[in-house]
Amino acid sequence: MKFIIATNNAQKLKELERILSPLGINAVSPKQEGISLDDVDENGATFKENSYIKAKAACEKTGLPAIADDSGICVDALDGAPGIFSARFAGDEATDEDKNNLILEKLKSVPEEKRGAHYTCAVTCVFPSGDEIQVEGYCYGKIAYEPDGDGGFGYDPIFLYNGVSFGQVSAEEKDKVSHRGNALRMFKAELLRYLEENNVNK
Ligand code: IMP
Repeated sequence: MKFIIATNNAQKLKELERILSPLGINAVSPKQEGISLDDVDENGATFKENSYIKAKAACEKTGLPAIADDSGICVDALDGAPGIFSARFAGDEATDEDKNNLILEKLKSVPEEKRGAHYTCAVTCVFPSGDEIQVEGYCYGKIAYEPDGDGGFGYDPIFLYNGVSFGQVSAEEKDKVSHRGNALRMFKAELLRYLEENNVNK
């Protein structure tokens, strides 16, 4: 059975392919299906809503079951910002370094006990029947005082998990505890249950 992954991000596609192939699912990209999702307006108010908007659009455009994710970081001392605006925080042209520096600057005088933050990852699958599967994974940590490590991407150099920055750990280590790892493990279990309950032909 074919599923479309509603992303232009080759890394996300690979990650989902790895999870879905043991279930007998063939994960394809928008490009492979000859569609573009550039016109999809991610105007939801939550990670779940945005992942639903992307999955629904891909499902409607192709008639295939579609999977999308939406993720970001929420900083306690910034009342949960940047949240769903994580990709665009500090402006459209800002680099990851700019975004990290902006958070560090805003938290300059915030003491350690108030530097809590968490990553969130919502994953939604929309089927042509209208059925949906939706999960959300989290990873709780703290914002560091300075960037550390060059692994990972985005906010990883300033995100401390158990006191160690995500920029310093391997992809495998991060995967075991990350918001995306947690969400995808939940998603896989939910999808398996759905396929079995609905006798869906793999
Ligand atoms: P999106 O889910 O592709 O919309 O990306 C959201 C943004 O959140 C990314 O551009 C990153 O800035 C941030 N983000 C999401 N997950 C991670 C992560 O695992 N590490 C670092 N930054 C992340």
